[in-house]
Amino acid sequence: MKVPLLDLKAQHAAIRGEVLAAVTEVLDSQVCIGGPKVAELENKIAEVSNCRFGVGVSSGTDAILCSLMSLGIGPNDEVITTPFTFFATVGAIVRTGATPIFVDIDPCTYNLNPDLIERAVTPRTKAILPVHLFGQMCDMDPIMEIATRYGLWVIEDAAQSVTATYKGRKAGSIGTVGCFSFFPSKNLGGAGDGGMIVTNDEALYQKMALLRNHGAKPKYFHKYVGGNFRLDPLQAAILLVKLPYLDSWSEARRRNAAYYTGRLQGDAIGTPFISPDCVSIYNQYVIRLQDRDRVMGHLKANGVGTEIYYPRPAHLQECFSQSGYSEGDLPCSEAAARESLAIPIYPELTPAMLEFTAKKVLEAVAPRLRRPHEDLSVYGARG
Ligand SMILES: *Cc1c(COP(=O)(O)O)cnc(C)c1O
Repeated sequence: MKVPLLDLKAQHAAIRGEVLAAVTEVLDSQVCIGGPKVAELENKIAEVSNCRFGVGVSSGTDAILCSLMSLGIGPNDEVITTPFTFFATVGAIVRTGATPIFVDIDPCTYNLNPDLIERAVTPRTKAILPVHLFGQMCDMDPIMEIATRYGLWVIEDAAQSVTATYKGRKAGSIGTVGCFSFFPSKNLGGAGDGGMIVTNDEALYQKMALLRNHGAKPKYFHKYVGGNFRLDPLQAAILLVKLPYLDSWSEARRRNAAYYTGRLQGDAIGTPFISPDCVSIYNQYVIRLQDRDRVMGHLKANGVGTEIYYPRPAHLQECFSQSGYSEGDLPCSEAAARESLAIPIYPELTPAMLEFTAKKVLEAVAPRLRRPHEDLSVYGARG
């Protein structure tokens, strides 16, 4: 049996007619930049995120970059973030000229550890950029408390967590701004790149709406130096077709996750810890294994797709070799990079595929279960 990590053809097959009709409507209108589809998606994403405003942009990366630019963050500023994230989070900070200050993760959730943030604050700190990794939001209350106390902006990187909740509050609605990605492999994915910024701050919304279009108002008169960060109406039209399915897809991912978490119990496998404050949308289902690479090899040999998110934390990337960080500085992030493995979780997985995947994981770790001297309880669920 083949179980790919993700099967976007299965999703497309279920909505093909609707997608083609939506694409045809845009092509027939020849409104190829901006227009009603982009505006409608902005309103709907803002609505499902419990925010007043949405700004469609060209990618999740540009959502973060445009947010930082709109807040005037640049050279001599510091932005506190996690090293255990997709590179875009950190790349966007560096591209503004600001310096990323890395804070280690909570090893249970893989998200920023709020207890470590305050000691990283300096007079140059301008913002905190928490990443809601794998579909679960960060512990936002303490993050917001520190931000309020020190007068810092909070930019939520919710690229993997559209519609996820923390204490009933939606991803993107708690900080100053929230950033989403519609990269095809995200829970709400287009047929190419796309992204969105949400906010409740009207002045910031107005500024970001200009920044994504070279800061022009009116056309050819430039209030700011922005960029071409626009969202394509073709992508907006496709995303509008998919959005009504998002909750049922997320529900299916949670059902799949519950199955795995039930089946993979045991000391050798760390299953995801979801805080009781959070509802995850499981953009990924990430297990933790001491012998990760061997288990990955066994799954690959049996036709089960996996991925390592992420094999090298940001502070150890070659492009930041001059930044002064070295191995051992952020041990929880480094351990997660060595031990975590994503297995297939997409909504269209059949019960047989789930069963097969779980069986192959258990099979791979079985020899380890016979070594009682190893204490793997540190990987167990907290709380
Ligand atoms: C996908 C992702 C991004 C970047 O989004 P793109 O649309 O690919 O530019 C940023 N941050 C995180 C955490 C992501 O997963």
